[in-house]
Amino acid sequence: MNAEDFRRHGHALVDWLADYHEGIAARPVQPPTRPGEVRALLPAAPPQDPEPFEACVADLDRVVAPNLTHWQHPRFFGYFPANALLAGVLGDLVSTGLGTIGLSWQSAPALTEVEEVVVDWLRQMVGLSDDWVGVIGDTASTGTLVALISARERATDYAFARGGLQAEPAPLVVYASAGSHSSVAKGAFLAGFGRENLRMVPLGDDHGMQPAALQAAIERDLADGLQPCAVAACVGGTATASIDPVRAVAEVARRYGLWLHVDAAMAGSAMILPECRWMWDGIEGADSLVINAHKWLGAPFDCSLYYVRDEQHLLRVMSTNPSFLQSSVDGQVRNLRDTGIPLGRRFRALKLWFLIREQGVSGLQARLRRDIENARALAAMVEATPGWTVVAPVHLQTVCIRHEPAGVEGEALDAYTRAWAEAVNRSGEGYLTPAAVDGRWMVRVSVGAPGTERDDVDAIWASIRRHAAASFAALR
Ligand SMILES: *Cc1c(COP(=O)(O)O)cnc(C)c1O
Repeated sequence: MNAEDFRRHGHALVDWLADYHEGIAARPVQPPTRPGEVRALLPAAPPQDPEPFEACVADLDRVVAPNLTHWQHPRFFGYFPANALLAGVLGDLVSTGLGTIGLSWQSAPALTEVEEVVVDWLRQMVGLSDDWVGVIGDTASTGTLVALISARERATDYAFARGGLQAEPAPLVVYASAGSHSSVAKGAFLAGFGRENLRMVPLGDDHGMQPAALQAAIERDLADGLQPCAVAACVGGTATASIDPVRAVAEVARRYGLWLHVDAAMAGSAMILPECRWMWDGIEGADSLVINAHKWLGAPFDCSLYYVRDEQHLLRVMSTNPSFLQSSVDGQVRNLRDTGIPLGRRFRALKLWFLIREQGVSGLQARLRRDIENARALAAMVEATPGWTVVAPVHLQTVCIRHEPAGVEGEALDAYTRAWAEAVNRSGEGYLTPAAVDGRWMVRVSVGAPGTERDDVDAIWASIRRHAAASFAALR
């Protein structure tokens, strides 16, 4: 493909994507696809000879689009908003199209410095002090892993330069909110702490981590001769968007010298709204923080921001300096490879840069406020309907609901809950995520796809009630 072909096919593909977005509301949110069906549409062996590129484009209509769950659909209420706003899509196209890799400042100066500026813009947008320095990585899972490795190295005075964790006299312990995302436990395992040394701190009635329970767990471990190392709090937990009391947790962490990592992967976007910042009150007491710009904010996946207060420590743990990457300006620049796990980096900053400029802070704020209002409206409709409950506080855009008809309890209630959610998803009318909290199933309605307006929320609520009624009738 030469540049002229690229121009032609590129225009056709942008048209294809524009049509996709324009027509998305007419598609079923969840496709009727069965396992293996897509594979069966493809030849098992690669083409021996070149095909016309038009055949690839045609297969987007034949193979891909009909067999996707449409995350950008206005009736997508699953998981979390993973918004790919179109200015960001174009930024990602440019990132790939430039084919440049940031191995060092010198290998791509603009990549490094645009990232530095945009990460600092977002810091200002969410109201963090200028003590914080950030970088863009792939996912929150990676940011949290880096945080736990950093905690490990601080607690052991850089054991990695000696015998590592294996030579430490006492096991190190990590504490995580019971409301935390599975990536925290995974990060703790990958960082070498071991399952036995991970404590899940229970939540209180307010669905946040109990600081007193955290302190009690730390005291118990100290009495047993273990070494408390890190605590991971979450602002916007996975199941119910629960909120840990960051200030009180930071107080405990400071008292015992623990690293405090805050996982605000989802809810961090909402901190661009001053009225939401109470949710992470005390954040300045944390050591590290992760925010996924690739969720609600609207940068297409992947674009996760990792901020720390002590950049020197991060560099000491993560830096590598092979001869082939050294340059004469190393004393004057940041080499972002030294802030994380991968060596190479994509020009992810482009999509965030384009997004923020095209929307303006005010545009981003307006959309998030719309979504919060829509979530509240849904919660109000649910609560006003006999038999229906909202099972967790609605601080942001996640509404957790359950229908509890008289006489349906325990496992039968769980089966019924999952059945009606499944029926909604199968209908293609909307997409919901059932989840278990405290051993009981409920259904998360996550509001906030780019095109979701109040009438979409009304429609999903009507669909929920209709399918619940049918599932209930089937019980009898
Ligand atoms: C989505 C989410 C994650 C995981 O995000 P990835 O970027 O996919 O790793 C972690 N924590 C919370 C609270 C999340 O909402």
